Amino acid sequence: MTADLVVRAREFARSRLLGREDYFDGLPAVPTPLSAELHRAGLANWWLPVSHGGAGAPLTTGIDLVSELAYGDAGFAFASFLPVLGTTMLHCFGEPALAAKHLGMMAREGGSCAILVSEDEAGSELARNTTVYHRKGEDVVISGDKQFSTNTDGADFLLVVARSAEDPSLHSVVLVKRDTPGIEIVRRWDMQGMRGSGTYQVRLRDCVIPADNVLEGNGLRILEAGLNASRTLIAATAIGISRRIRDLAMEYAVHKRVKGAPLAENAVFAAKLGQIEMLIDVMRNQCLAAAARFDSLLAAPDPAAALYRTGATREALAAKMYCGQAGWTVATMGSELFGGLGYTNGHPVTKLVRDLRYVGLVEGGDDVIRDLLYSRYVAPSGRRR
Ligand SMILES: Cc1cc2nc3c(=O)[nH]c(=O)nc-3n(C[C@H](O)[C@H](O)[C@H](O)COP(=O)(O)OP(=O)(O)OC[C@H]3O[C@@H](n4cnc5c(N)ncnc54)[C@H](O)[C@@H]3O)c2cc1C
Repeated sequence: MTADLVVRAREFARSRLLGREDYFDGLPAVPTPLSAELHRAGLANWWLPVSHGGAGAPLTTGIDLVSELAYGDAGFAFASFLPVLGTTMLHCFGEPALAAKHLGMMAREGGSCAILVSEDEAGSELARNTTVYHRKGEDVVISGDKQFSTNTDGADFLLVVARSAEDPSLHSVVLVKRDTPGIEIVRRWDMQGMRGSGTYQVRLRDCVIPADNVLEGNGLRILEAGLNASRTLIAATAIGISRRIRDLAMEYAVHKRVKGAPLAENAVFAAKLGQIEMLIDVMRNQCLAAAARFDSLLAAPDPAAALYRTGATREALAAKMYCGQAGWTVATMGSELFGGLGYTNGHPVTKLVRDLRYVGLVEGGDDVIRDLLYSRYVAPSGRRR
């Protein structure tokens, strides 16, 4: 059943995404009509629990599914799976009626949610974030400026990380409906890659939200729980991009002649393609390990407690950093394979190189991931954070 999702994702990518590089690279209005098509094909929000009307596919299935979509366009794939971060937080830590309402809607209608964490001044030091909420009767009022947020404009609801005015040491995740007065899209960023997705700068001013929309627990810890899923799928986009680079190289090498023979018969070329295949295989295996760990936490008798206790898993951190680096190696090797053509705008590999770069940046650059791996899993146990 879930293996069928991967087959359908492959067909969708080949028939609807592939060969449309100019469209996706042109910063199209998002969500594109293809998002609605993805929902009709049963491929949107595939991870949502069966109890909320979703397909309930495990993250392990998501690795190949995302790889297939990213093979067609990584930006489109990213926009389609990033809500897994918000829905995981909502499913595990949201008030049950709130979760049922919003997750059920996403399963039925294929909508999306956005996550608003990053701020300009605080950077990756999320504890320095300044977006704030305060209690006002049965409501909370939230204000702040968020630097980057993907999907926000077309989302149905936003999950905003904000600090409590009453207890400044407490950061919470607050569900804010997109149509709440006080939300302003300041701009859509003109990103270098992943242009099939939309990432925005967002201002929130005095947004009044029911107090029940504040998720239970420390928001930064809840965020870490959800990031295990999205970081793993971000890593999986590197697999799809790398597979596409490999296949483009093979197509090219059949026609390109070097020393009187097709490039495909050249030993140097063969060695490079062998190296690329090894990197693709190890990327996939690390992503599957990270996904299996996440699936096992979600299958625990009390998944919220298991995820909260664990925080950022070693496997997801390693997957994102490894795939960013290995994918980048594939991208640079791959672009060189096309000679000067691989450096020209309009050649597919040029876009693939730009798209790939995001893996090592989003949801923590490599310095942040190294720091997390060290401080959580390597430092002497008494000094672990
Ligand atoms: C395409 C795209 C989509 C995005 N979507 C979203 C979204 O939906 N929601 C959202 O909230 N954000 C989003 N972001 C933001 C993204 O997650 C951050 O940009 C990323 O985590 C890096 O954080 P930063 O920009 O604050 O830079 P920083 O992490 O602050 O990095 C700036 C510099 O500080 C260094 N640095 C930071 N921490 C450390 C450390 N611990 N040790 C050593 N050096 C360090 C870095 O290496 C770098 O040199 C998106 C970004 C992009 C590019």
